[in-house]
Amino acid sequence: MSSSLVKSLARFYDLKPLHAQKHTGNGGGDAKKSQTATSHSSKSSFSLIEGRVDALCSQVDKLLALQEAVMSRLDVISRERALEKNVEHLLNVVHGDMRTVKKQAEQQAKRLDALERPLNALQYAVSLIAEVLKHSPLSELLKSTHTHAGKGLKSKDGVEKPKVCLKGLKSQKKKKPPDVADAAQTDLEEVQKLNQQNAELSHGTAETAACAAEHLDFIKDEQEPEEKKREELQAVEQKEEAEKDEQREISNEQDKQETKRPEDLCVPDVPRCESSAVYQESSEEHCELTGSTKRRVTEENLEKDDLKKSRVEQRSEEVEGSEEQKSEDDAAKEGTKEPEEPEGEKKEGETIAEEYIIDCSPPPPAPFEHRVVTSKTQQITAYYTINREEVLGGGRFGMVHKCVEKSSGLTLAAKIIKARSQKEKEVVKSEIEVMNQLNHANLIQLYAAYESRYDVTLVMEYVEGGELFDRIIDENYKLTELDTVLFIRQITEGLQYMHKMYILHLDLKPENILCVSRETNKVKIIDFGLARRYKPREKLRVNFGTPEFLAPEVINYEFVSFPTDMWSLGVITYMLLSGLSPFLGDDDNETLNNILECKWGFEEAEFEDISEEAKDFIKRLLVQSKGWRMSASQSLKHPWLSDRSLHYRLHQKKNKCHSTRAPPPES
Ligand code: ADP
Repeated sequence: MSSSLVKSLARFYDLKPLHAQKHTGNGGGDAKKSQTATSHSSKSSFSLIEGRVDALCSQVDKLLALQEAVMSRLDVISRERALEKNVEHLLNVVHGDMRTVKKQAEQQAKRLDALERPLNALQYAVSLIAEVLKHSPLSELLKSTHTHAGKGLKSKDGVEKPKVCLKGLKSQKKKKPPDVADAAQTDLEEVQKLNQQNAELSHGTAETAACAAEHLDFIKDEQEPEEKKREELQAVEQKEEAEKDEQREISNEQDKQETKRPEDLCVPDVPRCESSAVYQESSEEHCELTGSTKRRVTEENLEKDDLKKSRVEQRSEEVEGSEEQKSEDDAAKEGTKEPEEPEGEKKEGETIAEEYIIDCSPPPPAPFEHRVVTSKTQQITAYYTINREEVLGGGRFGMVHKCVEKSSGLTLAAKIIKARSQKEKEVVKSEIEVMNQLNHANLIQLYAAYESRYDVTLVMEYVEGGELFDRIIDENYKLTELDTVLFIRQITEGLQYMHKMYILHLDLKPENILCVSRETNKVKIIDFGLARRYKPREKLRVNFGTPEFLAPEVINYEFVSFPTDMWSLGVITYMLLSGLSPFLGDDDNETLNNILECKWGFEEAEFEDISEEAKDFIKRLLVQSKGWRMSASQSLKHPWLSDRSLHYRLHQKKNKCHSTRAPPPES
């Protein structure tokens, strides 16, 4: 290749002057000499030129090699560019596809959601209708007819009645569930690890979106007027009412026709909750936050004090006679107010519903202002005297002692939590963070926190009335249904506040409800060790303690949310009213199965005297599907917690709960 190039380059090199010199030198002797000299010099210059040409050739060769290298590099680069472009194009295509898939998934989730809602509504409506039918005189008539005829409606009835394994419940009657301290060996680190795994595992797209929507609905429910749900409820209840009327008419017709009908076929109308009316009526009156509720009750009492007195006392004299003093004592104990005289004059013969205003005032606040606490590293003993002898309670991870602040003399409770590793300390700090956000009279308040090498101590408001649990199991304590109303109202108010702050308690049980004193029915919620900020995608796995209070979604390792606390409220209500644990089986497995199958009922004798409203309240909380459970706000509007005439009836009846039930009144 280089030689051909040399030739082509030689073409540009002009040799003519040399040839011309050669021809002109042929004339004389001098000329010959000079010719020889010239020929000699031309030879040398030719060789010089040749040398230059060679040098040029080698340079050209180098240049060419360089060019070749540059060309091949350019080639590689251009190929790479093409590849890059291809990849870019491919990426764009993939992005586009992903977007389409995501959109489709979202649409699919929405469609599924839309399909699920009417299905749930239908299920709910069917259960309500079945419930109405169950209590309707027509159904009793049919049942009775079928009983006479042999087997008939049995299967239909069977569907409605919860198949409760009474054996298990009976054997567990009034039994204190195993103390959570028994499970103290359970490692905190393990729980945390699991929960962290849960959080990591619970990432999804469509599932999450659907779930978030569901939870946002619930939050909306909590924070805005629940008009939509109320309308749905109203519609169902109106339908229910219409059906009831229709059945009553049919039954009346039959009554008229069958004059010879045996007496045992006449079924008294089972009292039912006139929920829709009361739900609405009470929404503003009874759902104020505790502070304002107190104000309202006090004002009302002042205004109506004179009116109330004469009428109630008259009635008491007539009906109860010597019972009067006892009733007043009970009212003082219950923290309830005198019955209220309805407005306007009572005309002769006219029956006016008697009302009873329960004491909705909050418990005494903590003896200090709400404070935002950060854990200090100083020695706690420099500031507090901890009474190690006086153990207020043993928790999962440590002990709670009574303590006194040296500077102020304030009596407080010190919860000493074992926390060696940084991770364990972080867990306790999350409890501190949660408590820092909660400023409500029904929620225990945090005063200070100290951390040392091996533990973190939470210094809290001290309450001396003991665990609500002890009242459930104390046979000497006369717990009435109205007492239970007061307890549950306060717990619900605490929960409503927590949920409004987007915080889930997730460990509600009677042991975590403390009575402010032995004399009043004021309570406070404690133990925010498992409480957390609501995160739509977070699942919770709990592997400690007794499973009695776990909601199905916790056992199923599904998303936990506000209704998870509402389930626990249902369990607590059931326990307070009956002294029985609704799902407690012979062992943990049986208990878990009972929960998963939502196997519970009111068949126990303990529920004989309990009002239908109380049962309805529980029914609306112990619902397997968490979307259908009442929210805290809805619970506060439920007749059992808000209907004054019902409270009046309960006050008159003074029906005792569970083992403390009074013997039936002599007729
Ligand atoms: P843990 O988170 O370890 O279960 P808790 O907060 O539930 O601990 O407290 C354990 C027990 O200590 C409670 O059941 C209660 O009897 C008692 N206790 C806790 N806090 C207080 C308090 N502020 N005042 C009085 N007793 C308390």
